[in-house]
Amino acid sequence: KPRKTLPPQEKNIQVVVRCRPRNNSEKKSGSPQVIDANTRKGEIVVHQELHEKAITKTFSFDRVYGPESTQIEVYHGVVEPIIAEVLTGYNCTVFAYGQTGTGKTYTMEGERSPQGALSWEEDPLAGIIPRSLHQLFDQLECQESEFSVRISFLELYNEELFDLLSNGNEQVKLRIFDDSARKGGVLVQGLEEITVHSKNEVYAILERGSKRRQTAATLMNASSSRSHTVFSVTVHIKENSLDGEELLKTGKLNLVDLAGSENIGRSGALDKRAKEAGSINQSLLTLGRCITALVEKCPHIPYRESKLTRILQDSLGGRTRTSIIATISPALFCLEETISTLDYAHRAK
Ligand code: ADP
Ligand code: MG
Repeated sequence: KPRKTLPPQEKNIQVVVRCRPRNNSEKKSGSPQVIDANTRKGEIVVHQELHEKAITKTFSFDRVYGPESTQIEVYHGVVEPIIAEVLTGYNCTVFAYGQTGTGKTYTMEGERSPQGALSWEEDPLAGIIPRSLHQLFDQLECQESEFSVRISFLELYNEELFDLLSNGNEQVKLRIFDDSARKGGVLVQGLEEITVHSKNEVYAILERGSKRRQTAATLMNASSSRSHTVFSVTVHIKENSLDGEELLKTGKLNLVDLAGSENIGRSGALDKRAKEAGSINQSLLTLGRCITALVEKCPHIPYRESKLTRILQDSLGGRTRTSIIATISPALFCLEETISTLDYAHRAK
């Protein structure tokens, strides 16, 4: 039976932190591990030394994942419950937020095991995007109703939109229009929406999009650390009610791999260095402001101030669900950015 309202104890915005293992260069340079993840309590503990005194600072979140956490655990804890909401007609969004190199793309897209012997759906390194599509199809296929699944994959770079699934060779900038039929909805002109019939079709499409992201970055001489990608799955389900009437339910899942957060200062405002370098990431800043405004229940949410928040407007606030996965490094070398990320994530709670 479809649920109309969320159970009251569950919040619309959930914030979790994932700390990756130390990488080789952090180990080689001897940068010590300064972060502990207490998965039982949902706490991140930061160990610092200041004037030869040991200081610890504790941040608490809805959940935390430590360096040993697997892709499967993160998926089960954060995304699996959301899939059920999408199937009852909710718009849901999962963000990966954090410094470049901390595991946003690893968490959202995942990787392939080196041997390559496993099919993608069995690969333990598969991330949230392939796992979500897999689970959506599994659940849709075992119910009676007719359904359709459409996906789109777009990239936002310097406030310009590009289609990662288009077949053309050139990079065409896409334009956004307000959708007069849906309040708060927008239309992205020319955006490819591919209908997917089974999970077997999914992997090739994902690979194409992710390759295109890399080649586009090379062509534009751009760094992928400054781009956002939005992978969206729209599900339409046709149901017959008891009195024989047809009901159309629409749910949407947005999986967003954000630009590196290193330009955003601790207050959530633009960092001085970034301001000087002229590298303003309008979308990342505005997203932070919108989330703060939603958490504080402000009457005005500044959705219109960036392309990312315009695109996601119908999936943020109101009858929606949002999860933020903040990714961090455990090493001392990254501590300043790690604290910024933890502060930002903590404010979204
Ligand atoms: P980002 O997208 O945030 O810039 P990446 O996802 O590209 O970062 O990750 C940077 C590197 O760290 C990659 O080589 C990736 O394989 C590795 N990595 C990230 N997170 C993890 C993790 N949880 N476990 C193991 N390796 C990870
Ligand atoms: Mg990345």
